[in-house]
Amino acid sequence: MDKQHIFRKFKIRKLRPTAVREMVMEYLLERDTAVSLKELEEVFYWADRSTLYRTLKAFEEKKAIHSIDDGSGVIKYAVCADNCTCEPHHLHAHFHCIKCKLTYCLNEIPVPEVQLPPGYKVTYINYVVKGICPKCGGGE
Ligand SMILES: [Zn+2]
Ligand SMILES: [Zn+2]
Ligand SMILES: [Zn+2]
Repeated sequence: MDKQHIFRKFKIRKLRPTAVREMVMEYLLERDTAVSLKELEEVFYWADRSTLYRTLKAFEEKKAIHSIDDGSGVIKYAVCADNCTCEPHHLHAHFHCIKCKLTYCLNEIPVPEVQLPPGYKVTYINYVVKGICPKCGGGE
């Protein structure tokens, strides 16, 4: 992968580049599915566990990535679009495949607007659709 792409992400999000951050960002960018901390620990088994955790937290804090609760009990992470502020109007739907257990960002599908009763304010919407993904033979 072009390192410039990774550094650009860091620059936009004001993240100081480190070897571990570069490695994790590259891994996240290469995937079209969301990644859990456990998966990162398995892939980068030589890296310190708490460093990987702190890397994800730093990315999330700076909105370079967003977390997804897909109902599997494990929080997953995926890279944010460059203009994403992680506010409700920038949130997109996620798809969790019940066969391969992978979770996809459906970046083109915004979460539907929810009309709440007066006095309620939306800060976050976790919109997860479950089903079978194209790779597992989902809908033609
Ligand atoms: Zn975001
Ligand atoms: Zn699948
Ligand atoms: Zn996403």
